[in-house]
Amino acid sequence: MRAGTGYDSHRFADDRPLVLGGVTIPGSPGLAGHSDGDAVLHALIDALLGATALGSIGLLFPDTDPEFAGIDSAALMSRVVERLTAENWRVVNADLTVITERPRIQPHAEAMCRCIARLLGVPAASVSVKGKTNEGMGWIGRGEGLAVMAVALVDRAAD
Ligand code: MG
Repeated sequence: MRAGTGYDSHRFADDRPLVLGGVTIPGSPGLAGHSDGDAVLHALIDALLGATALGSIGLLFPDTDPEFAGIDSAALMSRVVERLTAENWRVVNADLTVITERPRIQPHAEAMCRCIARLLGVPAASVSVKGKTNEGMGWIGRGEGLAVMAVALVDRAAD
């Protein structure tokens, strides 16, 4: 078994919907970024690539590549899961912490878990999404953006 960590942060942007963990959350500014800005899936992709030492999201999907402009991050995650599966890795569990003052994450956590679990091909009970504020401190406290921390555990099937 191997563990990996991932981190991502994005600035809020008023002109697009907020998508976190593959779920659109109404009533909140979206996240700036080359893709759809889904920082939850980005952090999780990096945790999976870290656990398997297969690179990083920036290496696999460069933000200079027009192919990935505005792309649904679920499509990026599916590519990563395909790569892991091809190398006999399977996801054991994933744990995610979203740090933001707004919106509240908890009301959307179950939907995010279900969506992420579907992308990973694991039971929803193997995925955890937690929300935290930053107690009003720093750039997160000022509502400039949000950050996500991810941990993933994978294991490799015997050949
Ligand atoms: Mg990102």
